[in-house]
Amino acid sequence: MTSFKDVVKVFDKLEETSATLEKIRILKQLFNSVDPEEIDKLIYLTQGILHPNYLPMPPIGIAEKVAIKAISKMSRLKETNIKKIIDESGGIGNAIEKILKQRKSTKTLDSFIKKPGQAVSKEKDQSISEVYNSLDEISNQVGTGSTLKKIDLLSNLLSRSTPKEAKYILRIILGTLRMGIADMTIINALSIAFTDSKKNKEFIEEKYNICPDLGRIGKILSKKGLEGLNEINIQVGIPIKMMLAQRAKSIEDIFERMGAKFACEYKYDGERVQAHKNDNKIFLFSRNTENITKMYPDIVDAVKKLQSKTLIIEGEVVAIDPITGRIKPFQELMRRRRKHDIDQKKLEYPVELYLFDILFKNGENLLKEPYIKRRNILEKIVLESDLGENSILKLATQKIVSTNTELEQFFQDSLDQCEGLMIKSINESSIYQAGNRGYIWLKLKKSYQSKMIDSVDTVVIGAYMGRGRRGGSYGALLCAVYNKSKNLFQSICKLGSGFKDEDLERMPEIFGRLELIEKPPDIDIVAEKLVPDIWFKPEVVCSVIGDEITLSPDHRAGYNLIRENAGFAIRFPRFLGFREDKSVKDITTIEEIMELYNKQTK
Ligand code: AMP
Repeated sequence: MTSFKDVVKVFDKLEETSATLEKIRILKQLFNSVDPEEIDKLIYLTQGILHPNYLPMPPIGIAEKVAIKAISKMSRLKETNIKKIIDESGGIGNAIEKILKQRKSTKTLDSFIKKPGQAVSKEKDQSISEVYNSLDEISNQVGTGSTLKKIDLLSNLLSRSTPKEAKYILRIILGTLRMGIADMTIINALSIAFTDSKKNKEFIEEKYNICPDLGRIGKILSKKGLEGLNEINIQVGIPIKMMLAQRAKSIEDIFERMGAKFACEYKYDGERVQAHKNDNKIFLFSRNTENITKMYPDIVDAVKKLQSKTLIIEGEVVAIDPITGRIKPFQELMRRRRKHDIDQKKLEYPVELYLFDILFKNGENLLKEPYIKRRNILEKIVLESDLGENSILKLATQKIVSTNTELEQFFQDSLDQCEGLMIKSINESSIYQAGNRGYIWLKLKKSYQSKMIDSVDTVVIGAYMGRGRRGGSYGALLCAVYNKSKNLFQSICKLGSGFKDEDLERMPEIFGRLELIEKPPDIDIVAEKLVPDIWFKPEVVCSVIGDEITLSPDHRAGYNLIRENAGFAIRFPRFLGFREDKSVKDITTIEEIMELYNKQTK
């Protein structure tokens, strides 16, 4: 048994240091010193929780005013006085420490406030388990009369505690334990404490991603070492940490990262759900691995109908307009996300679940399978389950894309009811990276477009030869705006998106006569990587819209005006059309770009 008194001394040290390496060192010592039977409880308390959040347990928290009543009961101070002490000492944790220090001096408060005839209890250290069990008992009080019971139990616990123990007990209970201990800090400390190398943290993290319960992981490590973790496998009912996406920087960025061909799926604007099925037993988990089964009984019923004994699948749940059947904005779904009156809310706010991944099926772990295989398995299950047209389970709309035009078209289509696209690699290495935000998935959202308040008229100063379908012709254009004072055309974007097929077809005719062998002196560009394959005499005007005007070291427009070594650039530029009615004299100037930059919402 480890005494809680020793643990809180370490909590004080953890609070005092902000350096992560130091926190890891302190935690390592603590983990090594603790009884292996109690290390799970110690880890939960360090995280300020009693159980991993995927278990549908009542929350530990009680309101501050209830805690004040418990302190008042224990100390016989008036609640108003306690509030004053809280204000003076900067928080309830410090306040209870102060109150207990004053009242107890060297005695325990038990002996201090003993009732007539009651035996004086001998001062005895409380173990981690005793404190943990008392907190668990408090959190388990629910229903009528539970608040009074909680006050009683908390007041008893505080009276058994040293001032410092009481400080941390209250912080845990009120959810204000802020020692800056991230999950990775604990994983690092466990790795050093119980394996011979900190390198093992990767293996520990891998297990944590399929079993987000650091208490359990710590206990296995301290009792059985690293090998013991082999007993952790995917289990229906225990959520897998979700894979996340990076933001796509530009259309070019998408092709660069994904290669010539990739999958695009509609990006539904709702709530991520991981559904687990074991026969008729269904669990639903949120993006943060919280158990949300009770909030979506209609999804539970629908998932039950899938023809597989065990399954772990993922999708986005969205609110649906009951009359038109169209997807409603995210805010509407939040009206549905209630703990109470669910049956009523279910009728008022119907939902659909758009499935996009499968992680486990009939005992088989699919995380390491590439995207296409997982998608095929998912499609097969949905089709073979014969869900019927009215099922609220649907497959996320998907398309394999290999050209800018297809990407652009699919993106535009998605905006009718969705917020953009998820771009997913289809390489052999396109596994499901549990708990990771990597580049296997990219997101391309509509909102990225909204900042730029107007289009810009640019002059085309060069072109890059196309690849794939655009092979043998121009693939992207280099565009510039006009710097009056220097009389230069300064580059502002590389434009490769938004062209219709007929625009591409017309380009040789439009530009052929303007091709130059060398860069003309009135053209100003900066980045080596932006030198085009062909230069053009600056004559053709084209209108461009983007998601925003940003600052970039790559472009020359307004160089050094706002920031040293950076010019203006159009982020995510899209072609709106050639402006045959305009000449190069009419193009947007640096002053106008500056104005647009200042006007856009930051
Ligand atoms: P964000 O929340 O902006 O980081 O975007 C990622 C989120 O988009 C995911 O966590 C999902 O909740 C959501 N999402 C919507 N549609 C899809 C989809 N087809 N594939 C993956 N995630 C999706």
